[in-house]
Amino acid sequence: MSFKPISDIGEFGLIERIAPIAAPTLEAVPGLTEGIGDDCAVYELSPSTVQVATTDLLFEHIHFDLLTTPLQHLGSKAISVNVSDICAMNARPRYALVSIALPPKASVELVETVYRGMSETAQRYRTALAGGDTSASPGGIVISVTATGEAEKEKITLRKGARSGDLVCVTGSLGEAAAGLRVLMREKDIMLEHIRHGETYDRDIMSNLGEYNEAIRQQLLPSARMDIIDFFHKHSIVPTSMIDISDGLAPDLGHICKRSGVGAYIEESRLPISSQVRHVADEFQEDAVNYALSGGEDYQLLFTLKKEQFSAIASHPDITVIGKITPEDEGMLLCDIYGMTVDLNTIGGFDHFGGK
Ligand code: ADP
Ligand code: MG
Repeated sequence: MSFKPISDIGEFGLIERIAPIAAPTLEAVPGLTEGIGDDCAVYELSPSTVQVATTDLLFEHIHFDLLTTPLQHLGSKAISVNVSDICAMNARPRYALVSIALPPKASVELVETVYRGMSETAQRYRTALAGGDTSASPGGIVISVTATGEAEKEKITLRKGARSGDLVCVTGSLGEAAAGLRVLMREKDIMLEHIRHGETYDRDIMSNLGEYNEAIRQQLLPSARMDIIDFFHKHSIVPTSMIDISDGLAPDLGHICKRSGVGAYIEESRLPISSQVRHVADEFQEDAVNYALSGGEDYQLLFTLKKEQFSAIASHPDITVIGKITPEDEGMLLCDIYGMTVDLNTIGGFDHFGGK
């Protein structure tokens, strides 16, 4: 038997290998209507209500760097990234279980500060912190949050419902978190340079980098778009499909297209990219559109909507129509500002294993 390095198939390839092994367990539970493959698993509680469940892992040195991450923000982000997956199902969060692994030298105060961030944010989403598990860690800090939510069965929104002709919409502005990360990593280098020369570093990351505040806030302290779910419910809007943007617009739109068996046509000129993101990209001599397409961690919602529902979202200041769903054989295309089309499948996103 030969062994294949995970990096040969990447994170998504690995999940595709895991899914068939888990499949027989799913078949044994008839109420489980969605297993591996969407933002949450879906379980029927009653003929009219479903429960959704999701889990996300934050690993020190992979997902966060304590040099540039305030502890309270870290706690907040651990909750928000899970609630974001619940929002992506058009559901509301209910409770979360938090597992944490800590180096024995970590202080009690550190843990309390992380939990204060979690608690404050969980209260904002009306989510209960209802349990968890605690362990020692031989390396860095690990935080794993599992969250559940609830929705009316007819409102649940999967990745697989997009149809040709639907509008493709996003919330907020894209590429912010990627831009924020660039600025923070540069600041970290400055910090380490100070330390190397025996100097003190007394800048406060959040207040001293004022001109980048929005991008840094989106990186360190993202919000799940519960406000959009409230808006949908208030106006009886049910998107045909939805996902939260955690890997980048291109790969996450790819998940919708693959699961729905459709293509998409996106117009670059419509992408909501702020002047701050463009400014950061210019400073780093990079392309702001790439931050939006493959930067990841924006935790905005990407959804598709029947054309007839356009008037229901038209007046919302934070929802942008960026393109349309097309037949599968037309592929997933980006029309750039010069009118040239680019295959979005060739644009990768964040992959933990650097999949090829
Ligand atoms: P998201 O970015 O929305 O959190 P992921 O890309 O992490 O989604 O996961 C995609 C799908 O694969 C989800 O349905 C998730 O539950 C499932 N999945 C991811 N990792 C595993 C795993 N190790 N075992 C089983 N299912 C997994
Ligand atoms: Mg998701």
